[in-house]
Amino acid sequence: MTPPHAPAPHELVALRQRYRLERERRVRPDDMAQYRDTDAEFGYYAADPYTAPTKRDARHDTVDVAVIGGGFGGILAGARLRQQGVRSIRIVERGGDVGGTWYWNRYPGVHCDIESHVYLPLLDETGYVPEWKYAPGEEIRQHAVRIAERFGLYADALFSTQVTSLTWDDASETWTVTTDRGDAFRATYVINATGTLTEPKLPGIPGIETFRGHTFHTSRWDYGYTGGTPEGGMSGLADKRVGIVGTGATGIQVIPMLARDAAHLYVFQRTPSTVDVRANRRTTAEDVGADREGWARRRRENYLRIVSGEPEEQDLVADRWTASAGLLEKLLPSFRRQGDREAFEEAYEAADAAKMNELRQRVERTVTDPETAEKLKPWYRYACKRPTFSDLYYPAFNRDNVTLIDTADTHGIERITERGVVVGDTVLEVDCLIFATGFFVGASGIHTGKLPVHGRGGTQLLHRWARQGPRTLHGFTSSGFPNLIQMGSFQNASSVNFTHVLDEQAVHAAALVAAAEARNALVEPSPEAEDAWNTAIGKDAPDHEWFHAECTPGYYNREGRGRPNGPTAYPHGAVAFHRLLADWREHSIGEALRARTTPRPSDSHRADTAD
Ligand code: NDP
Repeated sequence: MTPPHAPAPHELVALRQRYRLERERRVRPDDMAQYRDTDAEFGYYAADPYTAPTKRDARHDTVDVAVIGGGFGGILAGARLRQQGVRSIRIVERGGDVGGTWYWNRYPGVHCDIESHVYLPLLDETGYVPEWKYAPGEEIRQHAVRIAERFGLYADALFSTQVTSLTWDDASETWTVTTDRGDAFRATYVINATGTLTEPKLPGIPGIETFRGHTFHTSRWDYGYTGGTPEGGMSGLADKRVGIVGTGATGIQVIPMLARDAAHLYVFQRTPSTVDVRANRRTTAEDVGADREGWARRRRENYLRIVSGEPEEQDLVADRWTASAGLLEKLLPSFRRQGDREAFEEAYEAADAAKMNELRQRVERTVTDPETAEKLKPWYRYACKRPTFSDLYYPAFNRDNVTLIDTADTHGIERITERGVVVGDTVLEVDCLIFATGFFVGASGIHTGKLPVHGRGGTQLLHRWARQGPRTLHGFTSSGFPNLIQMGSFQNASSVNFTHVLDEQAVHAAALVAAAEARNALVEPSPEAEDAWNTAIGKDAPDHEWFHAECTPGYYNREGRGRPNGPTAYPHGAVAFHRLLADWREHSIGEALRARTTPRPSDSHRADTAD
């Protein structure tokens, strides 16, 4: 193997040209319109295959806090609220249990590609130590259950239930929460934790509705048809020709499992992912320092600092994320200090090219058929698409029963018929067609028309934002919408280890509730505080623009159109943001509080859900 080398200037010019051509080849004029919702006649693709809703009475009572969403965001909010002494908490969740993305995504091979010892939250608090460096999805789902049990979040939770509206009542200073199960209950506070990648999307391939074989989306795996478990053993596929569409982070995990179990597997690829070394292994408590108090907090802070480009002496996790996934972020701090864009872009381009050459060499080394290897090589900059990791993916293409169908030249699959898939002149008959085609980004919760939010005076949140642009304080709260706390990365911060970010948000949300309770106040920032935040996050916002504009299309750059206008996140990274929040909580939390005009709802009306 040739070791990755620093590319010469002429190589960089050639790469730039190649990347530009690849981008042009892939950008589609219909960008987001190429996808289709999983509703109406396609609702089958989004139905819950794991839990049948049970009958229950509609709720018309009052709770202290309604938490929308039972994924890690929601249960972390619940846990942190409990630590602040909040007794009455009601989680409302569309799925049949807690777990969020880990409830829905149970496809064979599902793992978290972030190290389990930093990804699984509340390890210090629950005493749980994962056994693998990268945990299987089921273990993560079970950990979500563990947290919900430990913090007494099941007692009043409503599952298989979707919130349909939030309406603020000025007279009682409470929210009315309605759901699709006929509930209409009151809550003093509402925490919205509906997640970002929740709505499965389908490609709008002509003829998709005519397919007569079996079909489903990876986030609703049909084990009734395939047989087996997330660990494999899909005996139902032993005599089946299976097609899978999509080679993103999900496709990379599921394809080796399908390759093992299906009679024949066709992999329909549009853009190849970068697939780096995985090296999963069993770990011991000693390996990860779990014999010392506060070990998990120290480890995940160390990880966040490294992937955010902050100086750190030791790399405790030491994997491919910490080695290279923070490529861009690692150079950003020095750019911010010196502001020399040209030097920054040059340094970035050279580091990126070395990394991408290494990954393309990995394909060549592993895939025996040169034509297939060529098609699997990614031609774009490293973080244009979400990096993926697997030691099983490339070897799967050396099997006789696996065929890679590259669809880049036709912008994806051209047509689906009753019996199969059409790409160019080729018609491939399949018995089962599986869509690993991802999710609409940020398509649930209060940022969408699907969950209308009426604040003071009946003002609708999205109408207000359409008029004046989105306005929040730190991404959490908005004036005119008291006691409504939003989790997620909008005007907030993000990181690859999103559960860490969510936990910091949960701590913050619980502190806001506790401060309001202590002072008999409402959580509501002033318009001036929102304006100041908007200015603060807008100041350095364009850092990533140049980068995404040159990328192949995908959900990171809105299918090639670039990032939306206006500041969408705190531009200095999660570490700096968490510091800022902690400092604000200590010195300025009063800024976000305003006096109640009514007494709090009496305790006697509240559902008592304390553990
Ligand atoms: P992605 O959106 O990342 O990938 C969708 C795939 O479908 C892409 O390969 C896309 O191609 C392909 N596709 C879409 N339309 C067509 C078409 N018409 N014809 C052919 N191919 C098509 O979805 P994933 O479910 O893979 O991942 C979503 C996110 O979920 C990840 O980015 C990650 O954040 C998270 N995830 C995290 C995991 C973890 O371990 N932590 C594991 C799995 C997912 P193209 O690239 O050309 O658009």
